[in-house]
Amino acid sequence: MKKPLMAGNWKMNKTVSEAVGLVKTLKNAVSDVMNIEILVCPAFTALYAVNNEIRGSNINLGAQNLFLEPKGAFTGEISPMMIKDIGCSYAIIGHSERRQYFFETNELVNKKAKAAFVATLVPIVCIGETLKEREDNVTFKVIEKQIRESLSGFTLEQSCSVVIAYEPVWAIGTGKNAYPEQVQEIHCFIRKIYEQMYGKNAADKVRVLYGGSVNPRNVSDLMKKPDIDGYLVGGASLEAESFTKLIRYFK
Ligand code: PEP
Repeated sequence: MKKPLMAGNWKMNKTVSEAVGLVKTLKNAVSDVMNIEILVCPAFTALYAVNNEIRGSNINLGAQNLFLEPKGAFTGEISPMMIKDIGCSYAIIGHSERRQYFFETNELVNKKAKAAFVATLVPIVCIGETLKEREDNVTFKVIEKQIRESLSGFTLEQSCSVVIAYEPVWAIGTGKNAYPEQVQEIHCFIRKIYEQMYGKNAADKVRVLYGGSVNPRNVSDLMKKPDIDGYLVGGASLEAESFTKLIRYFK
């Protein structure tokens, strides 16, 4: 049985003290939740302090990015081992904001995902079409290319443990979330392509999250769809109250 994952992407928000305050409130509010995995992904600067705060709790820690090399002359970058060392178990890779503003390609995303595995981090690989691509009716083509290129060359074990986050770019931070039917359709498609790449077992086992303006008001309709194994949440994860409500929908 797959454990659902509720991941909060805090993006470039929260000072260290704000991040610690948020996770402290969250920790107390969800301490009884055992049936889902809870993950927070603060900015790099807050990882150490947040890790100290969540030690021994049911909250996991993730980074929002990593660099693919293990060490060396790469000024300003953070290696997978450093992220592991600071207490992370997950890393978000290829978020659409990184693809858009930092020109990350499927090829780079794939290298980063493999580098995450080397450091025993679980990569959460983000894919999703832009509004223009949806309007041009090329969503399936775009998603297939992203899956085949970003998720290629994994071992069978890696193919089961990676997490895929479907995040239509037009729904991220816009308040416009995709209809549950649209999400279900794409999640089924993702599993179909994934099955061609890694077989039915991996396609059944891989967790596919949805992300895009998920909040406590719209999550109940999404929850009715069978192929959504959790959520990657931006805005609504920045307040303990709304993130707690989302987590409790799984109970
Ligand atoms: C995200 O950052 O991955 C995201 C889905 O953001 P939001 O929930 O704010 O749309």
